Amino acid sequence: MDTIQKLQLLSEASQYDLACACGTNDTDRRKRGKNGSWLYPVSLPQGGYSVIFKTLMSNSCINDCKYCPYRIDSDVRRCTIGSDEVVGTFLEYYRQKKVFGLFLSSGVISNPDKTMELLNDTAGLLRKKHNFRGYIHLKIIPGASDAAIEEAVNLASAVSINIETPGIRSFGKLTAKKNYMNDIIAPLKLISRLTQKHSRYQRVKKTTQFIVGASDETDAEIVRYTAGMYKKLNLNRVYFSSYQRGLGDSNIPGEERKYIRKEDGFLREHRLYQVDFLLRKYGFIESDFVFDEQGHLFLDDDPKNVWAKRHPEFFPVNINHAGKYALLRVPGIGPQTARMILEIRKEGKIRKIDGLPLKGKRLEKAQSYIAF
Ligand code: SF4
Repeated sequence: MDTIQKLQLLSEASQYDLACACGTNDTDRRKRGKNGSWLYPVSLPQGGYSVIFKTLMSNSCINDCKYCPYRIDSDVRRCTIGSDEVVGTFLEYYRQKKVFGLFLSSGVISNPDKTMELLNDTAGLLRKKHNFRGYIHLKIIPGASDAAIEEAVNLASAVSINIETPGIRSFGKLTAKKNYMNDIIAPLKLISRLTQKHSRYQRVKKTTQFIVGASDETDAEIVRYTAGMYKKLNLNRVYFSSYQRGLGDSNIPGEERKYIRKEDGFLREHRLYQVDFLLRKYGFIESDFVFDEQGHLFLDDDPKNVWAKRHPEFFPVNINHAGKYALLRVPGIGPQTARMILEIRKEGKIRKIDGLPLKGKRLEKAQSYIAF
């Protein structure tokens, strides 16, 4: 295979990994470019728009993750690409200003450290030989040694290791080869230590991803782990990727999982992103979220509305006196609107509804929860 054929095959595989800290909304995370499926159009966290070059180094893997189309016993065409090939092609795009950065991941080729070395060598070639100072996101290979992980952190702008499920129990249903505590949790903790405030690597961003719905995990468990990881491991982002039936092993027990329909899976993923947003930007804490009897978020209402309906004692919120976080509890009011309300208040009282920077559906939502 030539480089482009390899990239075609390997970028197919990389589309399932969403833990790339550049997309800002639902659609960004699954988009792929027209001129090469390894190009991912994204909007940047700092505003604006660009493209990321995203590929696996190899789709061969010694592991057996049931949800993954590239696990050891899958009958798929395999290939591995060399560091020179990735660097050469990436730099061509970069010099033409068609991409702003590189995202590298890989199946585990023969052992975790050998694979991590391949990723690190590619990043090292870019940094040292080509003096590339731009964005490189490296996936940490589960089971890689501390030294290999530190080398990745040293080279990358961002690193991620996918947690996959919230806890050993649900993880154990998906793989017999990976060890949850040693291969996933220990590296997450190490990355967090290496990149803590005032450390040498504090600039490096760190993210993780859950595969949602492949095992029998509940939303309550995912939310508990998500809140815990933001608090204790200081992660920059947690991503959620809905398991798509048929991609991996069709023998994953179906009856244990609540959401079997593809559209319900995506809606579940969407609700988890709403929770994530409420945790990061709205001052919500884990105990604010309400789950059904099976421990799942409600698919038919967003988690903020659900909270508001359950807490009539909190409302109405007085638009002229409430602080930022009280305003953010009002359905229809987001961070930007809350900021605008605080600004308008500096000029004087807001006396009626049409003095609010809110329109349409969001205004309708907020009306019954506010007072002047
Ligand atoms: S480690 Fe698991 S998820 Fe990653 S490529 Fe191998 S089988 Fe797939």
